[in-house]
Amino acid sequence: MPPDLLNLPSYRVLGVDENEHDYRISAESLDPPKECPHCHSVHLVRFGRRDQMVRDLPMHGKRVGLYIDTRRYRCQACAKTFYEALPDIDDKRLMTIRLTAWMGKQAIKRTFSSIADEVGCTEFTSRAVFSDYVNELERTTRFETPTWMGIDEIHLIKPRGVITNIQNNTIVELLKNRNKDTLINYLSNLGNKENIQYVAMDMWAPYRDACLTVLPQARIVIDKFHVVKMANEAMEKVRKGLRDRLTLKEKRGLMHDRCVLLKREHDLTDGDSLLLSGWLKNYEELGLAYRLKEDFFKIYDCVSPDEAQGSYLMWKQRVTPAIAEAFHDLICAWDNWTPWVLEYFNHPVTSAYTESLNNLIRVMNRLGRGYSFEALRAKILFAEGARKRLNTKPIRKNREMNGSPELGFALFCAPDAGTKARKPRPTKLEKSIQMENLELNCGSDISTLVDLIKNGLL
Ligand SMILES: [Zn+2]
Repeated sequence: MPPDLLNLPSYRVLGVDENEHDYRISAESLDPPKECPHCHSVHLVRFGRRDQMVRDLPMHGKRVGLYIDTRRYRCQACAKTFYEALPDIDDKRLMTIRLTAWMGKQAIKRTFSSIADEVGCTEFTSRAVFSDYVNELERTTRFETPTWMGIDEIHLIKPRGVITNIQNNTIVELLKNRNKDTLINYLSNLGNKENIQYVAMDMWAPYRDACLTVLPQARIVIDKFHVVKMANEAMEKVRKGLRDRLTLKEKRGLMHDRCVLLKREHDLTDGDSLLLSGWLKNYEELGLAYRLKEDFFKIYDCVSPDEAQGSYLMWKQRVTPAIAEAFHDLICAWDNWTPWVLEYFNHPVTSAYTESLNNLIRVMNRLGRGYSFEALRAKILFAEGARKRLNTKPIRKNREMNGSPELGFALFCAPDAGTKARKPRPTKLEKSIQMENLELNCGSDISTLVDLIKNGLL
């Protein structure tokens, strides 16, 4: 039997038994205690022993139990007795520390019960080990505070808040709900929150109010995507309202052609145009709704807030009473959120970000079954393959562009592989992170998360 079977340098293997499912490895610590833990006297005598069973990493498809011959001592100075401390063992879980670390990582991509089966512990323990692992990651990880922050909704069992870094295309936090207090609590505890310049969000008043309270310097931007999708919804309402007046055959035809109605005019094929003109000619309301939908999208071609507001007011006058109800939500949204909707024309949010986040929202329902929110949150925030670490190489170009050496612009993100760059002098924040031995990262890359979920790797 090889002496390094265990590959745990602080133990000596005394014997190995195995059956179909289990290895039973007897071992002893190579590190006897040097002094009494109570009075630090070095005058110790042996005072019995016991076998301590500890779980270790599964090996060759079998569960591994270490039976550690644990020695008991009596201190001649203070007369107290004690068992030797076991190195590399998590006393709380009766597992090797390397096993708990492995279980934590495994739980990001596997169910608790499958890990419990493989290791030979209960599902309860498997969950508890994972919870410890996540707490440790929380303690040692700092996500870079985005200069451009996105706050959106994502469905994980129920609606949750998702905080993103728009410039890096990453997720930096998942909030358990969409309440104002939850967001205020999160934002208040962020480091460098005064560096947040823009917050892009959907039209959800608790988010706006939380940002106005905690981030007075940040500009709130309603992303184009959230507004124009309401124009599509308005047109759909008109289409559905039409159904009652149609024959069964016409109804089927209209259902079939709905995707043509939702297409942008410039994306229509010749065949599409022919289909569309038929519907629009025969049904005046649908014709108007389509035109209004298209022209609403065109407002977003404006280059300034004033121009956009002017176009919108002209557009609004064309909404006739016959279809006013269908367009009511869209008009209310613009009128109630005007300053923040118009802010988009000063600071358009990149469409690449919105698109990848929507891709993620679409595949998200493949996750979720059998996991708690906490586990799902950890999967997303701490998925190893998706983590963007902060590379400390400064980009001169960005410094010049921005004119200031702020953290958000002075650093850039690189995927895990990382580039070998000459190290610049660390900033104050980097120094404190190094001193506290923390890892600063930019969050989970959204596109990578989508790929991991699609391939069943998360
Ligand atoms: Zn003692």
